Amino acid sequence: MASSTNPPGTRQDLTDLTAHEAAELLTSGQVSSLELTEAVLARVDALEPQIHSYITVSRERALEAARAADDARSLGKSQGPLSGIPVMVKDNISTEGVPTTAGSRILEGYIPPYDAFVVERLRSGGAVIVGKGNLDEFAMGSSTEHSAFEPTRNPWDTGRVPGGSSGGPAAGVAARECFVSFGSDTGGSIRQPAALCGTVGMKPTYGLVSRYGLIAFGSSLDQIGPFSRDVRDCADALTVISGHDVRDSTSLDSPGQDFANALTGDISGMRLGVPREYLVDGMEPGVKTAFEASLRTLEGMGATLEEISLPLTDQALAVYYIIAPSEASANLARYDGFKYGRAVNDVDTAWEVMDQTREQGFGPEVKRRILIGAYALSAGYYDAYYKKAQQVRTLIRREFAETFERFDALVTPTSPTVAFKAGARMDDPVAMYLSDVCTIPVNIAGLPAISVPGGMSEGLPVGLQFIGPQMGDATILRAAHAYEQATEWHTLKPGI
Ligand code: GLN
Repeated sequence: MASSTNPPGTRQDLTDLTAHEAAELLTSGQVSSLELTEAVLARVDALEPQIHSYITVSRERALEAARAADDARSLGKSQGPLSGIPVMVKDNISTEGVPTTAGSRILEGYIPPYDAFVVERLRSGGAVIVGKGNLDEFAMGSSTEHSAFEPTRNPWDTGRVPGGSSGGPAAGVAARECFVSFGSDTGGSIRQPAALCGTVGMKPTYGLVSRYGLIAFGSSLDQIGPFSRDVRDCADALTVISGHDVRDSTSLDSPGQDFANALTGDISGMRLGVPREYLVDGMEPGVKTAFEASLRTLEGMGATLEEISLPLTDQALAVYYIIAPSEASANLARYDGFKYGRAVNDVDTAWEVMDQTREQGFGPEVKRRILIGAYALSAGYYDAYYKKAQQVRTLIRREFAETFERFDALVTPTSPTVAFKAGARMDDPVAMYLSDVCTIPVNIAGLPAISVPGGMSEGLPVGLQFIGPQMGDATILRAAHAYEQATEWHTLKPGI
């Protein structure tokens, strides 16, 4: 049901614009932020009963922010590329005064007293936050079916999942329910849903974006990043949210940069490695065909491609499913019925408050992760599991570092399959975990990676992933942008 985007600029097509096209109309006075926001809210009203990409829509606040952005503009105050642009923020990113659930019953009713760093940046940059994006509970999952609220559906086919855990932010951008959105990626949760929904999605270098105010899942892996409909918007959004923050001890002390400067359109001579281990068993033929066509496109643009081997790729998934649950079991200890959100209080002792709050507040996937993590960290098993996983992690980092001595970036498929049917992997956790086999190695090594629309298979989007070295964010944006300019996949939109 793909159709090409309508020519931008006409009133009824406002929500089809990219953020940078909308920003041009704002600058020239052809449209106001209030009009953009009302158009997005109308789209939200029409589609949410089917898509469920939002957990909370903050309509009044959004309209107020839009008026403020229009006022600032009329006073000649320029606030940056997202000024006046309606955006969505994943619901595990804290927003002062707006409920933040992380997709969990245990945080129902919790209203953060402060904004996350990225939200501070968005607000001070004049962005209009329309609401909070749906996700798998505590960002654990690959389909958004583990949300404690309604599962999000894929705008290309509402019988299918949008991917996860940032399914809401991905579906929201694809369905034109916002222009840009922000998610978190611990093991693929930005790139995999971006691939399945046909959007751009980027996980920056670990430390480039502060996680202050992000509800922690796996702290050595978590990173915040943008979703958008083209690479230019992704670069602009990253410019807005990146930068040093003393409140996140992992925040890199790098000067801010304008990532749009990286988009030269030229990748001639760029050395691209194609690791064969990413063409995993079980990869759908349509995904493989699309990937091979993308490689030819890149070659035609003057990049040099070389097939390589990264033998430790196979170990990354196992390493992840020890380290991420271990860190989660520690991070989730704070939900005890006393500090945040919901509590079960009709019991006799403090112990029972904690026991019953966690029993009733956490869903099955979160409980599974806490059990796996507590086991891997326990005395007697620590050396066999957690310590071993950390050792293999070091080897994986090293393997990537050596590879990047010879290559500017790597190219891989983002996901072995297109969007799968709702329910298809819910009874098989391992099948669900395998959804991230192409995205997880990047998090293990703290590298930047971006997924861009890279073809269609069976009427559904296929993602193409570029992986860069540490701080190679500008390089992969440049490669992704050049590829996008040579193809039309990003101009396709769901028929919904
Ligand atoms: N799907 C992976 C998991 O379930 C990754 C999630 C993420 O990146 N937040 O843990």
